[in-house]
Formats: sequence, structure tokens, C-alpha cells
Amino acid sequence: MPREIRFLNTLSRRVETLDPLEKGHVRMYTCGPTVYNFPHIGNYRTFLFEDVLRRTLKAFGYRVTQVMNLTDIDDKTIKGAAAEGVSLREFTERYDAAFFEDLDALGVERAEHYPRATEWIPQMVALVQRLTERGHAYVQDGSTYFRIASFPGYGKLSGIDLAQVRAGARVDADEYEKEDVRDFVLWKASKEGEPSWDTPLGPGRPGWHLECSAMSMGLLGESFDVHTGGVDNIFPHHENEIAQSEGATGRPFVHTWLHAEHLFVEGQKMAKSLGNFYTLRDLLEKGLDPLAIRYLLISVPYRQKLNFTFDGLHAAAAGIERIGNTLRRLAHTPAATGEGSLHASALDEFEAEFDAGLADDLNTARALAALHNLLTAVNQALDGGGITAAVGARLDAALARTDAVLGIVPTGGAAESADAEIEGLIAARVAARKARDFARADGIRKQLAERGVVLEDTPHGTVWHRAK
Ligand code: AMP
Ligand code: ZN
Repeated sequence: MPREIRFLNTLSRRVETLDPLEKGHVRMYTCGPTVYNFPHIGNYRTFLFEDVLRRTLKAFGYRVTQVMNLTDIDDKTIKGAAAEGVSLREFTERYDAAFFEDLDALGVERAEHYPRATEWIPQMVALVQRLTERGHAYVQDGSTYFRIASFPGYGKLSGIDLAQVRAGARVDADEYEKEDVRDFVLWKASKEGEPSWDTPLGPGRPGWHLECSAMSMGLLGESFDVHTGGVDNIFPHHENEIAQSEGATGRPFVHTWLHAEHLFVEGQKMAKSLGNFYTLRDLLEKGLDPLAIRYLLISVPYRQKLNFTFDGLHAAAAGIERIGNTLRRLAHTPAATGEGSLHASALDEFEAEFDAGLADDLNTARALAALHNLLTAVNQALDGGGITAAVGARLDAALARTDAVLGIVPTGGAAESADAEIEGLIAARVAARKARDFARADGIRKQLAERGVVLEDTPHGTVWHRAK
């Protein structure tokens, strides 16, 4: 039996226990990037929320099928390719590849499917045909539009005011303002210089909203469990997805809608258009640790705004260091032979609190606080009577599970090779001392101190930690 988890559903505006249509199997669709440039870390806040969501569901015992689309045809990708004079494919493939590199750097688990919009044109056409048959679509000047007056449920997700609707008023852009409650484009008539497909709808290309309806239902079924995105997706994108999908099938499209609040910079949403953004690459080039970026972006529950500052990032790096320091102390301390000072009850408490936080609409702040309380208890035990082998084994398992969910325990990759280098120097210092070459031993200590590494000679050998 999977563990219970509750979410605040944007659609019902209530906190609800997740109850997948198929027992124990969560099918979820996460709106992916528009591959027209390097995503900024605001975009990654949303993608990391979805990663923690996926990892939590798995740790709670659910099977997860996640789909994340890659929007490789829309107003922005077409404009970008045209500006560079390259084909749409050549243009988007570059950003596609960059996106997956970023996901790896941030430790994001792969979804089960990454459909590209340009590979789903026949399904999109079929969806428009179904909408036309059911009276929800009409053609004007070679483009096909969704008639929102034909769908009484329009507005149920975003709560927009339908009194604003002006019959017959249309909008052709993929993105538009909240005030524009108008018939939106499903299929756009081909234009000079734009990619175009010859289809029964006439030559043209899909609108952005249509892409997500076709790909989500194609891979997850006409009704599925969870759909996520950033709050800016609620209107018009997700409202339009509901209208298209339910208009075509007559069935409920998605049960649970989850929306991540934005990453802010000095009171404004981080956005390409405002110029107040950092890409992941910008930060990595400054030498910042991707793990600290991950830690910062997941540290605030997804429904709350998060303000980005470099102080915040340094605090996140300190959080990561604290985990690493404790793990190294643990690894270098032999098991207690007596009772030890860390009791199994501390682990019970940690596990209960960590899970309770996540089960409460994915409260990552509460889960992280539980982890830091555990680290405090571990450090106190190491200062005192130590930790027995039995409790140590449980602790290792708890930390491994924490990492499976949050992905912030510094092991492997860059962290590990930096640690290996430090440990190599410490071994050289031990050898120098044995050989009574104290000048060399002191030299190594100084060299390490310059890198912020503090050594402590204990009866069990030399242990080290990074200074604050
Ligand atoms: P896009 O590539 O523009 O479609 O955006 C990809 C995802 O990032 C969408 O789910 C957006 O809602 C989300 N997003 C955009 N800006 C921010 C931000 N400042 N903070 C958090 N998420 C964002
Ligand atoms: Zn979408």
C-alpha cells in the first residue's frame, strides 16, 4: 500500500488525498521547456519541484509515469530559428541537448517520456477534427479556433471572468494576457517563412496549447491523475488544455492540478523578458555548486514565492556542507561498542517527520528541517558516546532514502573527487609524520587550511571538515 499524500489542487481549491485512477500508479504530465534558449533558474525551480514530486511519490510506494513535453514548435522557436537563419530542427536540437545537460547537473531524474511536439502532428490534427465534429471549433482565414462559448466549463481552473468574453473575438498568439478571454487558435494557417505541415486541416502548424493536450492524452490516456506547471501556465495554457481535451472527449481530463510559484528577484518574477535572470550555466561559470542551487530551489515549498539572492545561495551551500561534514565524521568514526548515544527512537522521529512534511502538499522546508535536526543529534552522538553498528545501519538507510527524495546529499561526482584529493593529502601528511618530516606535514596542513579544510587528529586517526 503506498503512503497517503495530500495536495492542494488548483482546480478544486482544496487539499485532497491523492487517489490515482489506477491503484498505486500515478500518471502525470509536466509542461516542459520551450527549447528556444537556455532555461533560467526560475524555470528550474518548477522542474525541480516536479522532480521532488516524482521522487517522493516513488519513495511513498507509487509507480510513476511522467511525461514532459519539449515544445519545439511555437511562436518563440520559429522566431529564434528565423533570426539565426537555421532550420527549426537545428535550432531546437541545440537547446534540447542543453536542457538535458542542465537536468543532469541538477540531479533531475529522467521522466519516462519526453515527446517533441513536431513528432505528434497527426495526433494533434485528429484532436482538432474531434473538436470540430463536436461543435467546439471553427475555421476562419485558414486557421482553426476553439469556440470558448461552446464549452461551459471554460474558466473553472483559473476562475477568469467569462463576462469578458466577446463573441467571435479571436487570439492567434501562443501566449496572451489574462484579459484576453477569446477564442484561441488550435491550428494556425501557414505563413510565409514559417514551418508548415500539409494536413486535412489545411497547410499550417499547431498552436502551443493543442500540443500538450495531444501529447498528454496520447501517452497517459484521456483521463489521468496529475498535471503540473508554473503558476503562469494556469491561464491561458492549462485552461485551454482542459477546454480542448474535455471538449473532444467529454470526459474529465486531469484530476489534480499543481502549480509552482515563481522564483523572484527583488520583488519581480525572474523572466527572460525582464532581463533579471541567471541561467544555470551563468551560475556554474561563477564556480557555484549545482547541488547548492538545487538545495536552494527546493528549500521553499512550491506553493510559496522564493526570492533569489546570492546570500540565499551561500546559505544553501552551507547546508550542503553540513551534510557532507557529518557524513565524513560518520565514515571516520568506528562504531560504538557500548550503548551509543544515538537512539533508534531519533530515527523513528526523523522518518515520521520527514514523511509527514512531504505528505503535507510536499512541504520540503519541513522535510529539510527534520534532516537538520537529525544531523544535530548525530553530531552530538559523535561528540558523546558514539553510534552503534545497528543504529548506524539504520542511519545509513535513512540518509540514502533522504537522498533518493531530495537529491541533496553530497556524494559522487565532483564532491567525491574533491574529497578524494583532500584525503590523498591527509594520507601524505600522515606518512610525513610517521617519517618525522614535520615540516612537510605542517606544509600540508597549511595547504589544506588555505582551502578551508580543518584537520583534527583523534585517537581514531585524522578527521576533517570544511570550515564555515
Ligand atoms: P517555458 O519554457 O517558458 O514554457 O517555461 C518552462 C516552465 O518554467 C513553465 O512551467 C513556467 O511556468 C516555469 N517558469 C517560468 N518562469 C518561472 C519563474 N520565474 N519561476 C518559476 N517557474 C517559472
Ligand atoms: Zn503545456
